[in-house]
Amino acid sequence: MSWETKNYSILLVEDNKLNQAVVKFTLKRYGYLIDIANNGLEAVEMFKEEDYDFILMDVMMPEMDGLEATKVIRKLEDGDKRIPIIALTADIMVANEEKCLENGMDAHLSKPFDVEHLFKALTKLDL
Ligand SMILES: [Mg+2]
Repeated sequence: MSWETKNYSILLVEDNKLNQAVVKFTLKRYGYLIDIANNGLEAVEMFKEEDYDFILMDVMMPEMDGLEATKVIRKLEDGDKRIPIIALTADIMVANEEKCLENGMDAHLSKPFDVEHLFKALTKLDL
């Protein structure tokens, strides 16, 4: 099983409506199920309610940013299960990628969203 055949259930955390639409439109074509949270606070609540395969997490958001939301989610996890969190950032700075990984995220994608980059990340994460 890999990204080609799996029906992932994904939580997309993104405050920008246009980016939400682009990612959702792209991933729906693969038959994935996508829920959208508009900020980190919503993401935390949705994480508590649903069982997602992974989270796509924007970093810059109002209310609660992606780094903070990741910290909260990691605290809520009971230890034996760790949801993969893939960061989405608007730049390709290595420093930002490192910051994401240091803060409990598992991978990093730069915007604009590129589905091939996502598939590479999923393969690396063994999803
Ligand atoms: Mg944003």
